[in-house]
Amino acid sequence: MARVFNPPLAELVGARKRYGRQVALDGIDIAVRGGELLALLGPNGAGKTTAIGLLLGLLDADDGSARLFGESPHSLAARRGVGLMLQSAGIPDTLKVRELLELTRSYYPDPRSLADCVALAGLDGLIERRYGKLSGGQQRRVQFALALCGRPRLLFLDEPTTGLDIEARQGLWKAIRELVADGCGVLLTTHYLEEAESLADRVVVLNRGEVVASGTVAEVRAHVSQRRIRCQSSLSVARVAQWPGVRSASADGERLEIVADAAEPVVRRLLAEDAGLSDLEVQRAGLADAFIELTREAA
Ligand code: ATP
Repeated sequence: MARVFNPPLAELVGARKRYGRQVALDGIDIAVRGGELLALLGPNGAGKTTAIGLLLGLLDADDGSARLFGESPHSLAARRGVGLMLQSAGIPDTLKVRELLELTRSYYPDPRSLADCVALAGLDGLIERRYGKLSGGQQRRVQFALALCGRPRLLFLDEPTTGLDIEARQGLWKAIRELVADGCGVLLTTHYLEEAESLADRVVVLNRGEVVASGTVAEVRAHVSQRRIRCQSSLSVARVAQWPGVRSASADGERLEIVADAAEPVVRRLLAEDAGLSDLEVQRAGLADAFIELTREAA
């Protein structure tokens, strides 16, 4: 099959950044392409904000390079192609949502229509309200709409769904999926791993300024060999917890839950020792398990 060349919209190559003696990024590579969502994950202090700062030209790398649409992130033309939803917004409280959207749209030669911005961000019924009088979750949705006004080819979403209720979060996820399907590239940071699991084409896990894993969600998950085994059994938890290859075991009544390095030897032994065992389930670890294991290993 012919491969379509899809160059990165934003890219860090061997990027290093320190603050005094604190190394924030230790030579990392990241690339975001059109039509894909890259989730940048990592515990507090991992370097995510620093990476975004380099890609947006808010900070300069000490070593390595940052490119935006193939240009320096300081280029105005390159920055025009980006939509931003950062953690601090600095939006004037006294303006109405409609005024904010019209003002932001006026900065661009070919802005997205007001109706599309309202629909994508779920702002129906809010546009005549003053920004300062909205709830935190509603303000977050306005910030999302403002990020879309210029029809960006690349969106930076830094913790976009913090403070949103479940329905609003689902609405935002749907809009993000539509934008990606339309060819937009998205760099997402989130502390909700189910958000990355649900939206990301690829994930990069950072820890202490280094990339500790990158790939598709499935690939990162596969870094973790552990399996979660559940069954109904009369075996005692204390006994199972002693078996080789068992990391942990817990029970809720007769429902046993075991985390093991590999499933087969443990399942074989469970069946051998408890003829009455039922309801056996084996699962691969989720992204959350992988993330915890990867960042703990690196520590
Ligand atoms: P969080 O999830 O908490 O937002 P993060 O992954 O975005 O964290 P960064 O803010 O990029 O992490 O910080 C990376 C490291 O650099 C941390 O150790 C942080 O303390 C340090 N750091 C960040 N900004 C500065 C600064 N202006 N001066 C000194 N150290 C800084």
